[in-house]
Amino acid sequence: MKFLQVYAVVDSEYRVLWVGGEWDEFALNGGAQSATSNAVLSTSIMAHIAGAETRAETAKMIDAVLQHKRTLRLEYRCDSPSMARKFLMTIQPMKDDRALMVHDLKDAWHFSPPLNRWHYDPSSGDVKCSFCGNVRLHGEVQWTSCDEIGERHPTHVTYDICQSCIEAIDRAVEEVRSGVHTDAPVDDDHLRS
Ligand SMILES: [Zn+2]
Repeated sequence: MKFLQVYAVVDSEYRVLWVGGEWDEFALNGGAQSATSNAVLSTSIMAHIAGAETRAETAKMIDAVLQHKRTLRLEYRCDSPSMARKFLMTIQPMKDDRALMVHDLKDAWHFSPPLNRWHYDPSSGDVKCSFCGNVRLHGEVQWTSCDEIGERHPTHVTYDICQSCIEAIDRAVEEVRSGVHTDAPVDDDHLRS
């Protein structure tokens, strides 16, 4: 697995001040030709995120980090048609009301056979979760993992966020607000003292 790490610094208005690491490879692998490093600098990061819900949740995470000056961590998937890729996103507070966003590739595996190549199409009835990549096919209620979807992966998708990713984001934001890791084991001694 190739090492991949991508950084971006944003300000409180979500303007991209700096990008680093393998940003261009990351953007191109994701099919986002318009989001290469030269094209994103000094634009709003929101202009490069598809889906109103995804923009709103991203803003919520950055806002929480800037307001509470604590680091947020969230695992997510950013797959290509041939490869599943699991990332850890870390949003760290910096001075002057800026945040450093780091995307670390943690794991990757091939889809066999590869998924259909998909394109963003806001009018599509097929929905893809921006954070886990799961798909809710038109007329279905359940979300299907890309590890199981095979040749049924749609070629046109709109982006939204599935319920379990909304809950994971809410937990991550709540940890930033409270300073407590909710999934940490309970420390009995601490509770008694
Ligand atoms: Zn999801």
